[in-house]
Amino acid sequence: MDLIQLENLTKVYQTGDIPVQALKMINLEIQKKSFVSFIGPSGSGKSTLLNLIGCLDKPTEGKVLINNVDVGMFDRTESAAFRGKTIGFVFQNFNLIPVLTVYENVEYPLLMLDHLPSKERNDRVSRLLEKVGMTDQKKKYPNQISGGQKQRVAVARALVTNPQIVLADEPTANLDHATAFKVINIMHEMTNEFGTTFIFSTHDPKIVGEAEVIYTLEDGAIISSEIKKVDTK
Ligand code: ADP
Ligand code: MG
Repeated sequence: MDLIQLENLTKVYQTGDIPVQALKMINLEIQKKSFVSFIGPSGSGKSTLLNLIGCLDKPTEGKVLINNVDVGMFDRTESAAFRGKTIGFVFQNFNLIPVLTVYENVEYPLLMLDHLPSKERNDRVSRLLEKVGMTDQKKKYPNQISGGQKQRVAVARALVTNPQIVLADEPTANLDHATAFKVINIMHEMTNEFGTTFIFSTHDPKIVGEAEVIYTLEDGAIISSEIKKVDTK
């Protein structure tokens, strides 16, 4: 079964006099455990699409189905609960909390979950920090580590709740090319290991080569798709 189905997904922003059609009738399916990228120039609709999949915004028309549930029907509380359980986010600006250490940043989403015993919390955080190679830096604060290290911490934080889906909107935009490459590879390894579906956006054609499924967006429409590895799981 497909994990995510987008059906005639359309988003129109109505801010000034002229409506902006950010997404036009997108139809696609994303399978469990896949590593998917949306590429396209600035303004092509990448963030809008990820925001709709992540239940951060609602479609104007059409549907986002996740595990066959129409997430557009959720109210604010239901959306927040669904996101907390099902989706991890990685942002372009890392969005680490400056007053928390590396360890505490990764632990933070677990504190939002009910009643996780502290030993299990500690085990999960330590395991994730190990995986992203940040154990030695765990007592440092975000301003004491590099951009690539910050994004590795953000990846650990996104995965610590073991979400089914991780969404990353231009996660490598603030990294140099070599670091961006490494971070994407870590994401790939980690999501393979955890069985997570990973969806990221980029406008960098060099980075996108790492994805298994690549959709190209232009003016709010998918203009091409490329599947490099057919997922038979
Ligand atoms: P991308 O992430 O590919 O750069 P976006 O999804 O941010 O593209 O934007 C797609 C289009 O929608 C653009 O024309 C953008 O200006 C417009 N847009 C995005 N967000 C908003 C918003 N909150 N209000 C009005 N227009 C928006
Ligand atoms: Mg964007």
